[in-house]
Amino acid sequence: MSAAHVGVLALQGDTREHLAALREAGAEASTVRRLRELESVDALVIPGGESTTMSHLLRELELLEPLRARLAEGMPAYGSCAGMILLASEILDAGAGGREATPLKAIDMTVRRNAFGRQIDSFEGDIEFEGLDGPVHAVFIRAPWVERVGPGVEVLAEAAGHPVAVRQGRMLATSFHPEVTGDRRVHAMFVDSLRAR
Ligand code: GLN
Repeated sequence: MSAAHVGVLALQGDTREHLAALREAGAEASTVRRLRELESVDALVIPGGESTTMSHLLRELELLEPLRARLAEGMPAYGSCAGMILLASEILDAGAGGREATPLKAIDMTVRRNAFGRQIDSFEGDIEFEGLDGPVHAVFIRAPWVERVGPGVEVLAEAAGHPVAVRQGRMLATSFHPEVTGDRRVHAMFVDSLRAR
């Protein structure tokens, strides 16, 4: 089978690192900014950034409903940080003033935005990650955590007593940023799941 074509939503946020990580993990990767590009990919990465801004841009560019529809049809997706927030079914502290982060409802979970940020904005540490050999160096930047997962959701990693990596079928989310370390195992886990159809 030819390599899966993975798009990286490139409205805002750290897209370059994800493109590089996906390519190193064996996928074909390109940016997604328009409907035509969204329609042409097999799977999508939603990067970190600012979930309120990304939601606003998705609406402005008329991509919100098409993206929801593709996710509802089962297009695999991986969200990191702001991307995790957007993949959730429910968002706590979603923001206000018409600039709320909008849940795409791809993973049955409740996520709290900027959850760690109440104590400390950003931190990093080595955490155990289910299915990977050895801990992952996790970089958290104004990160969310997960407060509730539905019965179909596997918790792959935890920090500060909360899930910070989850999987539901071929939807994956981490509240940290594996793309900023040289470790490609999380991206490889996602890319490998696309091959196993
Ligand atoms: N705090 C950001 C948000 O709410 C996420 C931060 C990040 O992606 N690094 O979207």
